[in-house]
Amino acid sequence: MARYDSILDTIGRTPLVRLDTFAPPRVNLYAKVEAFNPMGSVKDRMALAIIEQAERSGELRPGQTVIEATSGNTGIGLAMVCARKGYPLVVTMAESFSVERRKLLRYLGARVVLTPASEKGTGMLAKAIELAETHGYFLCRQFENEANAEVHSRTTARELLDDFRGEVLDCWVSGFGTGGTLKGVAHALKQADPATRVVVAEPDNARLLGSGLAQPRQAGGVPTSHPSFRPHLMQGWSPDFISPLTEAALAAGLVDELVPVAGSEALRLARELARREGIFVGTSSGATLAAALDVARRSPPGSNIVCMLPDTGERYLSTPLFEGIGEQMNDEELALSRSTLGYRFDTAPTAARQPPAAGGERAALDAEAERFVDETVAAEPVVMFALEWCEFCWSVRKLFARLGIEYRSVDLDSVAYQADDLGGRIRAVLAERTGARTIPQVFIGGEHVGGCSELFDAWRDGSLRGRLEARGVAYDRDIELDPYDLLPGWLHPRTATA
Ligand code: PMP
Repeated sequence: MARYDSILDTIGRTPLVRLDTFAPPRVNLYAKVEAFNPMGSVKDRMALAIIEQAERSGELRPGQTVIEATSGNTGIGLAMVCARKGYPLVVTMAESFSVERRKLLRYLGARVVLTPASEKGTGMLAKAIELAETHGYFLCRQFENEANAEVHSRTTARELLDDFRGEVLDCWVSGFGTGGTLKGVAHALKQADPATRVVVAEPDNARLLGSGLAQPRQAGGVPTSHPSFRPHLMQGWSPDFISPLTEAALAAGLVDELVPVAGSEALRLARELARREGIFVGTSSGATLAAALDVARRSPPGSNIVCMLPDTGERYLSTPLFEGIGEQMNDEELALSRSTLGYRFDTAPTAARQPPAAGGERAALDAEAERFVDETVAAEPVVMFALEWCEFCWSVRKLFARLGIEYRSVDLDSVAYQADDLGGRIRAVLAERTGARTIPQVFIGGEHVGGCSELFDAWRDGSLRGRLEARGVAYDRDIELDPYDLLPGWLHPRTATA
């Protein structure tokens, strides 16, 4: 590690890690863990390469919008590069890719245009072309852009050759999406040692390469859906067409063997990588490992085998990879919770700490808190006594925002109320006045409405409208909503178990 001028300088130089718990005896099996890239995938490499190549060629002008069709990782890499370099980014993506990807892209400042899942990869590509032509955007063309392969020759393969300096790399195993990794790495490895075998994995139910059928194209060269394509689990692998980069790798004789991989094996091995090696990666990584183990079992002792692990597992929380990983405690965890006395959900909470006994000074402070509550409640048409980051308070804020209600929020735990624990004393006064110990507590026109649930119930039964109207508080009368939908899932009374 060193100092870097920008995050972009940290791309690449990913670690090669031995997988001893998986490898057959005396076979050296290694994984190249691309999750170490700053945005967590192999695609960071090509995102930077494509943008910098286009900057050099003049194809990309300062401030011009960049667009690309991507299953997610390319977009996330591009979003990082575009953020740092100041280009707006638009990504087209089929709706079937995980929602984590969409959110990450938007978080990084990109705009995401979804395309129907039924239109598959060819649809999201065609949409990117349409948008680029209509709006004058720079289209990255990752599926054919030579910069995508070249960066893997220059960096990924170079790193591998350096790691095996003085040794033989017998076999390198990868899947393919754009084929950039495949073409670039295979080309450079074979140039260094023609005996290095290149093994390419693909989904067993979508054998675009294994079928031997050529990629069909429309007039003008735009690919149409390959007849062997079927939807599969390995996001980022085999789109529904064979890309020009992949075709070129095949035509150049860079591929020695094709290995079909079942989706169930991909899931099993991704999970096993986490549990046995502590390596947290995505579905295509499990799939690549499946192919590498197939090779390893057939390899002589002493063989050096490398498999690519393209991305991090965090991109898959909403996908079948996390099927069965619950949010609530399972029976075993509940039993563990109940094996000691405190901090459980099935017994009363531990009593709150009592305030210190009141002296003369204390009485003066309490009077100050009482005055504050009385004056605030009398002066404000709508006031909420809240905690800054409490989820219930956030949900009430969301309701007020949706209804267009102006209100004052007294955030008892904020810096403004910390001197002499004013916030804590106000809270004690509120508890005494209302009989409610929870926060938030809402007052409208000087009257106590209650906490989050009472407020939400009052909206549901219509009585909140009456109170607002009686006090002349403006709100949007046309809004239809169930305030309980504003609570995060774990607080939702219909689903929460606590
Ligand atoms: N796995 C994942 C998770 C990916 O996002 C990608 C890229 N689409 C790949 C594998 C394949 O990489 P490449 O595009 O270089 O063939």
